[in-house]
Amino acid sequence: MDSRPSPPVRPALRRRELLKRAAFSTAGVAAGGVALNELSPAVFPEHLPVDANASYWSRALPAVNPALGTSLEADVAVIGGGFTGLSTAYYLRQLLPGRHVVILEAQRCGNGASGRNGAMLLPSTGDRYLIAGADPVMDRRIDALTTDNIARLRALERTLGLDAEIETPGAVHAFADAADVPDMRAGASRLRDRGIPVEFWDREQTTAAIGTGAYAGALFDPRAGQVHPGKLVALWKRAAEGAGVSIYESTAVRHVEEGAVNVLTTDAGHTVRAPVLVLAANAYSSRLGYLRRAAAPVWSYVAITAPLTAPELGALGWNRGCPYDDNRTELFYLGVTRDRRIHIGGGHVDYLFNDGAPGTATASKRQRALKEMLGRLYPTLANVDFDASWAGAVDMSLDASPALGRTGGHGNIYYAIGFSGHGVNLTSVFGRVLADLIAGHEEAWRWFPYLNRLPPYLPNEPFRWLGIRARLAAIRARE
Ligand SMILES: Cc1cc2nc3c(=O)[nH]c(=O)nc-3n(C[C@H](O)[C@H](O)[C@H](O)COP(=O)(O)OP(=O)(O)OC[C@H]3O[C@@H](n4cnc5c(N)ncnc54)[C@H](O)[C@@H]3O)c2cc1C
Repeated sequence: MDSRPSPPVRPALRRRELLKRAAFSTAGVAAGGVALNELSPAVFPEHLPVDANASYWSRALPAVNPALGTSLEADVAVIGGGFTGLSTAYYLRQLLPGRHVVILEAQRCGNGASGRNGAMLLPSTGDRYLIAGADPVMDRRIDALTTDNIARLRALERTLGLDAEIETPGAVHAFADAADVPDMRAGASRLRDRGIPVEFWDREQTTAAIGTGAYAGALFDPRAGQVHPGKLVALWKRAAEGAGVSIYESTAVRHVEEGAVNVLTTDAGHTVRAPVLVLAANAYSSRLGYLRRAAAPVWSYVAITAPLTAPELGALGWNRGCPYDDNRTELFYLGVTRDRRIHIGGGHVDYLFNDGAPGTATASKRQRALKEMLGRLYPTLANVDFDASWAGAVDMSLDASPALGRTGGHGNIYYAIGFSGHGVNLTSVFGRVLADLIAGHEEAWRWFPYLNRLPPYLPNEPFRWLGIRARLAAIRARE
């Protein structure tokens, strides 16, 4: 079977994929045949620091474990304590209870995208979401795998007795342009023919569900929902530790020396020797010299209000309480928390030269834009202040498709990358697959189209920065 995701029947229905493909395509073209592209990592070396998570969700992150205080040996070393690293380590200990599995986290678990995201819990993958692809059987399989994972997350909540505020009222994918109605309606119908129960909603149904009249219609997936990201990190951390995983926080890996036994050196100068390494550093992977060609860190911004009163929330008319996003290239995503806060993210994204991070001036500008958008969608919130606002790096691949597999000269370095803004649910699906691969059960996943591949090639600097900037400018002019 072809290992690449099948092409879409209706590109117009693409969500995050459309966004990302468009944003990066020029960069790919620009790189062709330019020698500087190869020299670039030496000319523009990246710095290792990982920025701290200032999100509202981070207030619910679990207490921080002590740093690694000595050198040690382990069977498996995982770099990164987000959903990918925690779930991989958890499933690995379930499969191989005798193995010594350690997680090394630069700051604290949930410091990265896992503790900063838009809280939407979605089936499918970024490149397939709400798309009827060319292979109906594969669409069904991916849909079944990822919806089953939502049930697994709920089961984990019950088993551990820890509330991650997982709710499944469905999720809305709204569109503003009435010209999209025929495509959206037909797309929903094709998905339903495949057993994927997506509904088409007209303007009235959409407005009745989310309150704002800004959209001409929507697709609605009743299986989707939302989480409290900080509490989901807490759930995964408890699961991993309960399964016997050792987690060291404030422990940044500075260098990896590959070998039959990999040697990881931390910022504090300690070493971890492990025959198996899992790269779960997501958008920060390139700083360790890995997966640079597979994904670029694109910064998205999020803000959240203080709790509204019940009458204030009622006045919005957001009657279904379901999260939603839109089909713009630089999409907005919104949700209501259990304690009646409204969060909004998205809009203007930033890619900063050489995988850099935004400063406070940029972040403030984006926060003002989020406030303006919130006021446009819900005029009664036009003057509301945000309780918190933050930025997070999305690991964006060229075609918005994720990838996982094995790399390194000794074939003992496992990776997952390219979730492209669609990882709250998907990361722990990938964590389970990674654990299976490490345990030697690769055969069971031969059918999985994201296995042992990398997304299309992303060039190095300066072509990456020039290309992304040019495409984003073109998209902004068009939209
Ligand atoms: C703003 C934003 C909004 C999003 N919204 C949604 C959404 O609504 N729905 C959805 O499905 N997905 C969304 N996503 C995507 C989703 O959050 C991610 O795909 C997912 O959290 C990735 O998890 P991860 O474990 O792979 O990476 P991360 O959570 O980023 O974890 C990587 C970890 O590695 C650590 N690390 C990095 N380098 C080192 C090092 N050298 N040594 C040790 N540790 C290191 C970091 O500190 C970090 O904790 C969003 C992402 C962002 C940024």
